[in-house]
Amino acid sequence: PTTMVEDTISIPEVTWKDIGALQTIREELVWSILNRIKNPVLMAKCGPSKPKGVMLFGPPGCGKTLVAKALANEASINFLSVKGPELIDKFVGESERNIRSLFQRAKECSPCLIFFDEIDSISERRSFHAHGGGTKVVQQLLTVLDGVENRDGVFVMGATNRLDCVDPAFLRGNRFGNLLYVGLPSAEGRLEILRSLTKNGTIPKMAGDVSLEVVANDDRCNGLTGADLSELVDLATMSAWKSNYSDNVVEIIVTSKDFENALSQIRPSVSSRDLESY
Ligand code: ATP
Repeated sequence: PTTMVEDTISIPEVTWKDIGALQTIREELVWSILNRIKNPVLMAKCGPSKPKGVMLFGPPGCGKTLVAKALANEASINFLSVKGPELIDKFVGESERNIRSLFQRAKECSPCLIFFDEIDSISERRSFHAHGGGTKVVQQLLTVLDGVENRDGVFVMGATNRLDCVDPAFLRGNRFGNLLYVGLPSAEGRLEILRSLTKNGTIPKMAGDVSLEVVANDDRCNGLTGADLSELVDLATMSAWKSNYSDNVVEIIVTSKDFENALSQIRPSVSSRDLESY
């Protein structure tokens, strides 16, 4: 009885256009992964001898999954996302089997990017079940990861909200040693994110009186993540629905008043105290 390995595998539809800010992350991913995928022969011949695997880290909701998907989209390769806890099975031995079948599946769908989300949950220090299963799972994953360079067309990337809890073995050598911080957006970043979240067709029409620049620079936006900004747009949309809707209305238009309503409701999902741990 396998579990997560049955998830659908496909080329993601997310593109860089759907993502605001995070330009430097994108550039780094182009050099460290995309070019490697696009040009494996040249990379093998004259690339760095030990290209390091990428680990995205930072607070939740800032776009780690999005950039991983956009990368797979740009490279036109399949994307397989697996969360650490899904790999851990309470039956001894099942986890190792899960890991083997995961890589087998990825190989069958190659070229393929495996995205290991919440990788902090796979750790020797965390005893997720009795019998010391943690060590075995870590060992199994390390073994497969170390062999991944030889496996044609299978690429890996890690992600975590808790870098301090990641088993250090995953960060050594060429495993996930290239650490990239995906953090909270600046006011400028917020504007880019709001633009991508409201681009044509994604939400109802916006009235001419809406200035995303004013919204992005509003003090109440300080500390908001990309996911919070998405929530903000949803709140504004809902506000517009509430004030416009009737049975025969054909269009909903979001005004600056709706954004004002949304701003008065939104709260940062990541506390400033949690932020200090990144
Ligand atoms: P988690 O650690 O919770 O998995 P994450 O960092 O992987 O979070 P995502 O899942 O990529 O975050 O983002 C969640 C949602 O927030 C996205 O689906 C998107 O709607 C919005 N979002 C986050 N960051 C951005 C961004 N930079 N541009 C546009 N939308 C964003």
